[in-house]
Amino acid sequence: MKACVAVAEKDVNEAVRSCLAAQERGADLVEVRFDLMDHLPEDLAPFKQVKVPKIATLRTADQGGRCALDDEARLRFFRRVVRGGFEHIDLEVSSSLMRRADHDLRGANVIASYHDFEKTPKVSKIVETLVSVASHGRLVKAAFMVRSVSDLHDLVSAAKLFSQTQHKFILLGMGELGEVTRLLSDRMGCEFTYAALERGKETAPGQMDIATLKGLGQKPIITGLTGQPLGHSYSAKMHDAAFEALGIPGRYLKFPCSEEELGQLMSVMRDLGINGMNVTIPHKESVMEHLDEVDPTAKNVGAVNVIVNKDGRLIGRNTDVTGLAAAFGAAGADVRGKRALVIGAGGAARAFCSFLRDQKADIWITNRTISRAEEVAEDFSAQTIGHGEAASERFDAVINCTPLGMAGFPHELPIDPRVFRPGQVVMDAIYNPRITPFLAEAGARGAKTISGMEMLIYQAMDAFEAWTGQRPAYEVMSGAAGQ
Ligand code: NAP
Repeated sequence: MKACVAVAEKDVNEAVRSCLAAQERGADLVEVRFDLMDHLPEDLAPFKQVKVPKIATLRTADQGGRCALDDEARLRFFRRVVRGGFEHIDLEVSSSLMRRADHDLRGANVIASYHDFEKTPKVSKIVETLVSVASHGRLVKAAFMVRSVSDLHDLVSAAKLFSQTQHKFILLGMGELGEVTRLLSDRMGCEFTYAALERGKETAPGQMDIATLKGLGQKPIITGLTGQPLGHSYSAKMHDAAFEALGIPGRYLKFPCSEEELGQLMSVMRDLGINGMNVTIPHKESVMEHLDEVDPTAKNVGAVNVIVNKDGRLIGRNTDVTGLAAAFGAAGADVRGKRALVIGAGGAARAFCSFLRDQKADIWITNRTISRAEEVAEDFSAQTIGHGEAASERFDAVINCTPLGMAGFPHELPIDPRVFRPGQVVMDAIYNPRITPFLAEAGARGAKTISGMEMLIYQAMDAFEAWTGQRPAYEVMSGAAGQ
């Protein structure tokens, strides 16, 4: 993937230093933002040391820059930079100099640029913008602020359409959701992408630093997480740590998404070849209709938490089930044929019921809304029981699948603690905090306890292996999750 480092420094000497550092770190081109310098330089000779092609930019205020010169003064400066050895000039599409460029800036390659720091227009408008500029035979660059998966989908679709014209272009998404378009710009059909020299020196939101970008190589593994909201997730830390520990060039991104946008996100996954995606609340069930295949474990649970992109076919899996099974195994907790109580009747409860059914356990479900418990019981050949009644029964395993005790939720026990007994296995699906009031109480009464953090770690290990073919070490994932 070719990358241009955008250099924003206050004077020539610093700009040249940054250009040379960019060159050293593998930049294929550099862009010098002259509009961000304190003064326009008289002497451009120091730039002769820079061997990679150079782009001169004097961005106007309406396009996010600081240049206040009139057209004639800009033209004079551009003529000087061309004489000074700059191969490319970046001119805003809206600039009146664009019409004069062929005559007045002969010898320079003009990059026709367009920036919208507020929004991404619809596909047709993006393509229209690209076509109008490309008709002059120039390299066209357009960057839009990506605020939603729908925006991202429009950008990727526009790139796909415009690629068919054979014109050279660069189409970039700004902001966190636009990051994937910068990482996979070659798959978008772009000539090159833009990067920052280092973190903190970005000239546009969502720009990566050149060392990280080049470190990803030609075929990075891109994975991520969708759901809404995503703020609390540990997954990015765990997966990025696993990429690093195993020396796999890859990155884990966040794709917050509404239910209506799920189909668009899946289409972006296919178009850009995003290798895998974790799915979390509230999309674990609704995502299934957008997939090409759902594996038997996920079908049994009725929920997908991992999508694997196998040559464009999206396959839904459920590593919550395999993860919690691994957590039981690692704790030496055998529930085969035992009597188990599941508290709750949502997605996590279904995952536990699926595992317990495989273990031929005698499953009992209790839930605030008993009708939901009955539905789950029917799907997993289980029985339902009221909270009060459950407390006086004997269970070999008790599992909490409600959010009670989770950070931000009521600090309450989901059931009467008299249900706990010495020798019992007690697990909480909650991973934050690691020791919930439920686990603390069970432990105090002699039960063997397993934290939801174990399930989280093992499900992430299974997902990573499904995407990359390599299994990360438990210690790497747990270390990244703050254990
Ligand atoms: P869900 O589908 O929304 O189900 C929540 C369940 O909790 C429902 O049965 C609900 O009862 C019950 N509930 C909610 N608030 C309650 C309250 N105030 N009092 C009593 N019951 C209440 O959620 P989920 O996906 O199953 O997640 C449940 C928990 O598991 C969450 O804390 C989640 O973070 C955790 N989890 C952990 C992992 C992991 O890897 N460790 C994976 C998945 C989930 P009603 O039916 O009456 O609404």
